Amino acid sequence: MIRLTFLGTGTSTGVPVLGCGCPVCTSTDPKDHRLRSSVFAEWDNFRILIDVGPDFRLQALRHQIQKIDLILLTHTHADHVNGLDDLRPLSFQRPLDVFYPAGCLEILQNRFRYMFEDTGGPTSRPKLIFREMPHPLDLDDSHQIVPIEIFHGDLPIYGYRMGDLAYLTDCSRIPPQSYPLLEGVKIVVVGALRPTPHPTHFTFQQAVEAVERLQPQTIYFTHISHDVCHREIADLVQRRAQPAWDGLVLNIE
Ligand SMILES: [Zn+2]
Ligand SMILES: [Zn+2]
Ligand SMILES: [Zn+2]
Repeated sequence: MIRLTFLGTGTSTGVPVLGCGCPVCTSTDPKDHRLRSSVFAEWDNFRILIDVGPDFRLQALRHQIQKIDLILLTHTHADHVNGLDDLRPLSFQRPLDVFYPAGCLEILQNRFRYMFEDTGGPTSRPKLIFREMPHPLDLDDSHQIVPIEIFHGDLPIYGYRMGDLAYLTDCSRIPPQSYPLLEGVKIVVVGALRPTPHPTHFTFQQAVEAVERLQPQTIYFTHISHDVCHREIADLVQRRAQPAWDGLVLNIE
């Protein structure tokens, strides 16, 4: 079983957006408050964090995350990796494996140079072991994580499949070769920014069109902007999908 907790469901700015006084940013509905997108998946005995954004510390406190077995990165945009330093206290007892998509190592090394430097002396840097994500990652005989190549504008990034769950954030196109890897999936979490087109993110409508051919039981949106309030998004897609919200927990058999 997978217990999936949405730690954040907002776009790169988070919602409310700093300095914005729009109706969504000033809404009193807690579902209109969106931290940067990330999920925590407890898959039987494995505790898996997908992305470590700038809100990670607050998210971990909110959901009492005390142990993580491995971390998966979808890509290296700031809203998905800038919380890596806050993994420090969780990494001191045992170094944490961080799996990144092929081609991302140099970016991580440039961005977080100090995390890769072994000074030999006492250190307060997080103990992270950066590993390129294999295709697939076998945790044991019955738990396999499959990276799914998706496009974020022109940038190839990874979504991830674990059993009946697929997590596809920051997506604007699913290439044909990735569909067979998603066959039979029951729950699809897909990035959907807003109703109007954007060069690197699906609209709500595009997200539904891209994943409904997989005939999942439920489609959840994440990485949502401040353009539409939570209640209105459901109306826009007419029950074909629903917006996730921060703190939503799914139990996937
Ligand atoms: Zn993002
Ligand atoms: Zn706003
Ligand atoms: Zn991104």
